[in-house]
Amino acid sequence: MKKYDTVIIGSGPAGLSAAVYLKRGGLDVCIIEKQGFSGGQILLTSIVENYLGFSSITGDALADKFFRQAHELGTDFLTDEAEKVDKNKVILKSGKSLLFDHLIIATGSSHKTLDVLGEKEFAAKGISYCALCDGAIFAGKEVIVIGGGDTALEEAFYLAKTCKKVTLIHRRSTLRASKILQNRFFSLNNTQFIANDEIKQFCGETTLNAVILKSGKRINTSGAFIAIGQNPQNNLIKDIVKLDNQGYIITDDYCKTSVSGIYAIGDIRSKNCRQIITAAADGVIAAHSILQ
Ligand code: NAP
Repeated sequence: MKKYDTVIIGSGPAGLSAAVYLKRGGLDVCIIEKQGFSGGQILLTSIVENYLGFSSITGDALADKFFRQAHELGTDFLTDEAEKVDKNKVILKSGKSLLFDHLIIATGSSHKTLDVLGEKEFAAKGISYCALCDGAIFAGKEVIVIGGGDTALEEAFYLAKTCKKVTLIHRRSTLRASKILQNRFFSLNNTQFIANDEIKQFCGETTLNAVILKSGKRINTSGAFIAIGQNPQNNLIKDIVKLDNQGYIITDDYCKTSVSGIYAIGDIRSKNCRQIITAAADGVIAAHSILQ
């Protein structure tokens, strides 16, 4: 059974950033990634325009640069799924196990999906899950936002600064979002609210150009931002480390979890700001703590 100084589970920007720092620090590092490719949620982002050093880069290209840097430094990559953590051992779906001194959980979170017709087809072709990441592509155009929570209202507010019109579609008449965000949204003159309705289908040719609602209404739109919550990918570790009430892993300032030797970084960590650059920063912080 192979032993590593550090095993990292997940190869998004957080896991790759930790690997770069740990390898440069001379440690033996293995990243376990169940998808067989690196990048995590960046791969769902068409264009990244807010990662320092790149004024515009595709999600694919940025993920590839991250992967290459970690790979060239000698990180071991294993395509497999971590199924269980047992003391200093990770047991994998293939039946193999790896031993570690330190374990970094970088499994991220996934955006909840609507699971309606056309959602997969138009992902990154008009459908987005992140206004901060993709909003600029729709400057001057009409877009819709789906959801009624804080995230949806923040996304709508952000988009309204550059888009011609933002239509918020919510399945109930009452918004879940905080009053202050609601007031901000309703004070804008380029927003519209459609209550008590849901998406039935996303339509288009090569890119999204309309949605059909359950009420039968058709809305022409260039972009659709789905903001109906996140699912932290905590299955592996939820019975081992402390979680917050939304299922994200609680850490200290060094990204240490409640269990000695286990770190959590990136979107799986309980925190306020989930961006590529903050995920990468978490990776550095955990690696720095391990190397000390
Ligand atoms: P959320 O609060 O869980 O809201 C999700 C919204 O999506 C709800 O309005 C929900 O409708 C709707 N929804 C869920 N599934 C749906 C479906 N299948 N079809 C249509 N609509 C659906 O999620 P969030 O907005 O991402 O916020 C998550 C947490 O982060 C919250 O605690 C929030 O307060 C916090 N947050 C805070 C801030 C801030 O303080 N600035 C910013 C962002 C997020 P219903 O209302 O009908 O359930």
